[in-house]
Amino acid sequence: MNLRHRAVAAALTALAGAPALAWDAPGHRLITLLALDGMPAEAPSFLRDAETRAMIASQSCEPDRWRGTPSNYLRHENEMDHYLDVDDLSQFGLTLRTMPRLRYECVKAMVNAKRDHPERVEAYDASKDPAATREWPGMVVYSIQENYAKLQASFRTLAILEKLADPARTAQQAQARANVVYHMGVLSHFVGDSSQPLHTTRHHHGWVGENPNGYTTDRGFHAKIDGGVIAHHALTYDALRGGMKYAIKVNASDTWDDVAAYLERSFAKVEPLYQLEKTGDLMTDAGKAFITERLADGGAMLAALYSAAWASSKPTEKDVSDFVFYDKLEGATVIPPRPAVK
Ligand SMILES: [Zn+2]
Repeated sequence: MNLRHRAVAAALTALAGAPALAWDAPGHRLITLLALDGMPAEAPSFLRDAETRAMIASQSCEPDRWRGTPSNYLRHENEMDHYLDVDDLSQFGLTLRTMPRLRYECVKAMVNAKRDHPERVEAYDASKDPAATREWPGMVVYSIQENYAKLQASFRTLAILEKLADPARTAQQAQARANVVYHMGVLSHFVGDSSQPLHTTRHHHGWVGENPNGYTTDRGFHAKIDGGVIAHHALTYDALRGGMKYAIKVNASDTWDDVAAYLERSFAKVEPLYQLEKTGDLMTDAGKAFITERLADGGAMLAALYSAAWASSKPTEKDVSDFVFYDKLEGATVIPPRPAVK
């Protein structure tokens, strides 16, 4: 093995011990491409280029690459962004519809619920959780909102720079496009994760607790859905794009209700998914239709968020003049290369 192969092997070994990542890379790329296809014709034309599409599709896997990095600082911040165990909200007296709409307000509500009703909340062993992520049910509902707003900001900055069309701002424009690519990719990841029903439930790695229906308790069930079933049914971009309907619309100025409804749709599929596994139908046409529906819902939801973020980011004249005022590029229009190093 050369060094490069060794590094890849080491990374894969590290990932093997980690919890499943939800939709393997092909699933995330697929949802991204389906979503890009659903954007209106007036959307920025560079988003139709093959190269840009490939970049956004690759970037949609980036938050899982963060998970593969052995840093508890990053794990603590990033890990919970990938899921929300909807069925664990009730122990904190919350539902998807009543939980605070701001991330740290939600943390505060859960801390208070634990203090006031410790008997309602499942025991948590901090000694087995060095990154301290398992005390709470997950944050994906927030990571979607926050990254949607970052994408709005990136679209607006790009539109401002295009309007200015200033040759001195060529590098800024290139960076603004790169930022759009970056945030479209990251948003895609969390929207994609949420379409995987096992990212919305405490039963994320096999059924836990009371199990009257005898559902699988196999921890490998999650990985099977992420990749094995998609590969088995050959659910590729080419296979799915013909059947796509882009019927979802979101409220561009506040996507909370739309994202909550999206998570509810995925959560409603948790038990049907376990039933399909139990009957063996996951690997038949019924399983194919089930996973296709989940991927298509992810693609359509992401298309709606992309389109809304873009449409709601048209800059006003004041946005443009404010940008020029605060950016203060005048006098520094030409940034030279770094002088020769001795
Ligand atoms: Zn993920």
